[in-house]
Amino acid sequence: MPKLSIRDLDLNGKTVFMRVDFNVPLAPGGQEITSDKRIRAALPTIQYALEHGCGLILASHLGRPKGKRNPEMSLAPCAVKLAELLGKPVTMASDCIGAGIPKPAPGEVVLLENLRYHNEEEGNDPEFSKQLASLCDVYVNDAFGTAHRAHASTVGMISFVPQAAAGLLMDKELQWLGKATQNPDRPCIAILGGAKVSDKIEVIQNLAKVVDKLLIGGAMAYTFLKARGEATGKSLVEDDKLELAASLMASLGDKLMLPTDHVVAEEFKADAPNEVVTTIPDGKMALDIGPATIAAYEAAVASAKTIIWNGPMGVFEMKPFDKGTMALANAVANAGAVSVVGGGDSEKAIKVAGVSNKITHVSTGGGASLEYLSGIELPGVAALTEK
Ligand code: AMP
Repeated sequence: MPKLSIRDLDLNGKTVFMRVDFNVPLAPGGQEITSDKRIRAALPTIQYALEHGCGLILASHLGRPKGKRNPEMSLAPCAVKLAELLGKPVTMASDCIGAGIPKPAPGEVVLLENLRYHNEEEGNDPEFSKQLASLCDVYVNDAFGTAHRAHASTVGMISFVPQAAAGLLMDKELQWLGKATQNPDRPCIAILGGAKVSDKIEVIQNLAKVVDKLLIGGAMAYTFLKARGEATGKSLVEDDKLELAASLMASLGDKLMLPTDHVVAEEFKADAPNEVVTTIPDGKMALDIGPATIAAYEAAVASAKTIIWNGPMGVFEMKPFDKGTMALANAVANAGAVSVVGGGDSEKAIKVAGVSNKITHVSTGGGASLEYLSGIELPGVAALTEK
């Protein structure tokens, strides 16, 4: 069922509680934000809310303070950064519950202190949820990155508010992930890579029902190749997942594409002497897909109308083993298809390739987007009010 969006709400004169994802990386000491990407991502929803006449309370977690106040995980630097980006003051509250929380007048912004200073946040405690809800008239969730967690600020407090809506960022995530997995233009292909099959079993099983082709790269490919009886040398293989890989291969049939050639080296090291092979020799490990595989994957991508991509094709952090991942980043960007990319590594590859602006949607939530692709209903989405 479609969920209420912030655009459906009358915000005028109301106090809005907005769950945002300000879980930003901080330099040691906790004073300096090293990337403000997450704060910028929330700006459209924050600005929309303020333009529609509400007083705004923002709440987030930051790091893992494990239920204790920890000045190194304070959201205070985020208040400073947000004020700078908005060009207006942001009042930093000293806590997230209690009598001392200032009530923002229309057009004003209050940022609550780290929700995870209280264990009750992750414990989804009803009393804590009620206290959070008592701060507001209306609830908005724009933190897609934590929508797979049933915490007080993402699920619990919604029982105590009259209306709970998705923010603009959350809306966009649901729109594109939903389109790609439920109603894709065809052919629809998924490219999955990364270290382990075990991390992506549910994604493979769920996407198998949706996609026309599933392209596998990265170390996870070698568990499949070994299960098929091929030599994998010293490549990363999950020996306890061979049976599972065999059954996935059987159920996927010719939807599945696996690498047919490989860039191998003796050592796991940047610039290690390497060669392209079709059979991985003993004593060598595959660190990237080879040129024939790149060409086959590029052709599949070029013919697609919808592309879902999560995970690198090789050890893309080390040159020259980044070639497969970079080639796929360019192919996805130039396919002229609806492209939905998730996971920090694929996002990084797209940025390095300089093609971010050619991707339809880059998901802001690594874990949440993987769970979504697995077909799991995200608790933070399920809890929102239906339209
Ligand atoms: P994941 O977090 O599961 O998406 O995995 C990403 C990691 O997988 C990256 O750090 C890659 O370097 C690594 N990876 C990809 N391909 C290989 C490979 N062939 N051998 C070893 N590690 C790999």
